[in-house]
Amino acid sequence: MIEILPDLNSTVAVVGGGVAGTWATYKLLKVGIATTLITYLDKDRGGIQGSTYRSVGALNTSVLKKHDFTSYLDDLGRKCTHPSVAKALQLYFKDEIDELSSIVALKPIKIGLALESESGKVFLQYMYELLESLGGRIINAWVTRLVADKDYCRGLQYEKNGYIGKLRCRAIVLASGGYADLYSNSINTNCLGTILGRFLECGGTATNLEFLFKHGYGNIDTNGLTPTEEIAGAEVYDKNKNRLFSLEKKLFEGKGTDTHLEAVKIWLSNENIDYFIDLSYRPLYLAVCELNSTIQSNSIQAKNCQQTIIPEKKALEKLLELFPQKMRTDVFNQIVDGDRLQVIEYEKFQQLKQNFKIEQSRKFKVKPITYFSLGGIAHTDFCTNLKNVYVTGECMHDFGANRVGGLPWSLYLASGRTICEHIANQLQADEKPLDFELVFQKSNFDGDLLKVIRRRLYEYQQKSFNESYAQECIDWFRETRSTLILNNENLSDSIAWLIVAEAIMRSCLCRRESRGYFFRSDFQWEDENLDKYFSCVWYNKHNDFIEARLLEASNFYV
Ligand SMILES: Cc1cc2nc3c(=O)[nH]c(=O)nc-3n(C[C@H](O)[C@H](O)[C@H](O)COP(=O)(O)OP(=O)(O)OC[C@H]3O[C@@H](n4cnc5c(N)ncnc54)[C@H](O)[C@@H]3O)c2cc1C
Repeated sequence: MIEILPDLNSTVAVVGGGVAGTWATYKLLKVGIATTLITYLDKDRGGIQGSTYRSVGALNTSVLKKHDFTSYLDDLGRKCTHPSVAKALQLYFKDEIDELSSIVALKPIKIGLALESESGKVFLQYMYELLESLGGRIINAWVTRLVADKDYCRGLQYEKNGYIGKLRCRAIVLASGGYADLYSNSINTNCLGTILGRFLECGGTATNLEFLFKHGYGNIDTNGLTPTEEIAGAEVYDKNKNRLFSLEKKLFEGKGTDTHLEAVKIWLSNENIDYFIDLSYRPLYLAVCELNSTIQSNSIQAKNCQQTIIPEKKALEKLLELFPQKMRTDVFNQIVDGDRLQVIEYEKFQQLKQNFKIEQSRKFKVKPITYFSLGGIAHTDFCTNLKNVYVTGECMHDFGANRVGGLPWSLYLASGRTICEHIANQLQADEKPLDFELVFQKSNFDGDLLKVIRRRLYEYQQKSFNESYAQECIDWFRETRSTLILNNENLSDSIAWLIVAEAIMRSCLCRRESRGYFFRSDFQWEDENLDKYFSCVWYNKHNDFIEARLLEASNFYV
């Protein structure tokens, strides 16, 4: 016997309480629209839910100053950037930043601003309190069904402590995060795309699901990310000791973020070779950096620094101390050109390394790690193809094949504002939400099946891709799903994961090229005829079939 919770009504329901969902809820409440935020806060579905918890909340304001921002983003997204992104950022980002800084403390960082607390978790706790103080309702529950289609939006069904409940509403904002955690080499955010699967079941369209941001420097031993600033000064090489000088140079010069795509491509196009990072020279690198920065800020002559206590002298002494006493004069002569201390470039650093005595060897194997998803729910200016259903955050298709640090949060502030304007313009004040029937089923979280899906996606899609194996994998997803449907498990998360997993594979099959973070060993090059083409997927519930096609953005909603 399944127990039922009392029915609830709300003008708008927001699904997902990360940065995107809380910001959209905040904007709606501020203009007086009754809004319920429904989000899962418990840990029995694989742990803490969501990426925002793990983020420091960096907001990139510097890129907005770029001369031609739209083409800048388009280039970064390898011509697959979503057309709504630049517009939303240009229109609203500045205002939304001002509003954010009026409610939480921000601090300046290199690329713009960041949460002073440096904690997405602290930010969310504050936002939940703020939303309740503005009259918002927050429900800690798992959404198991969206009741919406191309003509009506009626609400959603949810499960809470074993009970099932109905929330009627006139508009839904989907902010349930990405699907990157469907891969076994992900960073464990529990972003499994269940709502994306539910949305597809309702007749929704998803785009560019084959694109996932892959962090180029995953540490294979710890399955963790290695921030690029922590590997500057490293040697990068394969098991035959062939060095990758171009990557090393860019890392040395602090352009680490730019190297992800290059690194991912190298690692994936040579899948039988192992690649390593060697951090043994890191102490020397740090001393070089310290010296370089003092030289750049002061430009004082080396001769003088022999007599005076100045930062250059200290930094120089520190560097020299890293070498055996008998070599210090040689090293000093290498650094000093005539009577001047010169900034130490990558090439000079290679020379210095020859006399450096390694105290501790620090080597580890690297591979790409799935970081977050770039494709997702299709939209035009954050409106989906379902009536009064909107999307924001990582669960939407946003940048494309590449992206910029600190722009996700920035975009989600701007999209929250846009969605609020759409809803305020579209909904008539006196209409009541429509009713719907509950489905008397519960949702099961099957961790073992999840492991198998993860392994299959990683092996057959990410590690190496081959059309006949991809088809076999799709067949397995379909057969497993059919069995679950026959067993009346329609509301179980597994069904949603299997729909999304198949949709990813079909999106990969229809993109017969490599582009950005999407790599196919059988089509290793970008095909410029496919610039501006997005893979689109639909699910036909009646025959349990997923279709995928490459389309231009103007044809998303066929
Ligand atoms: C480690 C890390 C650091 C990052 N740092 C930055 C940064 O500094 N700056 C930046 O701009 N970007 C950063 N990013 C990217 C950015 O943080 C994420 O894209 C962003 O947090 C996603 O927010 P979101 O609100 O869309 O989703 P999430 O934060 O993932 O939240 C989704 C929410 O939906 C809920 N949910 C999902 N399904 C259901 C369901 N069925 N029922 C109920 N609730 C559900 C979950 O419980 C969760 O609370 C970082 C990402 C990572 C992983």
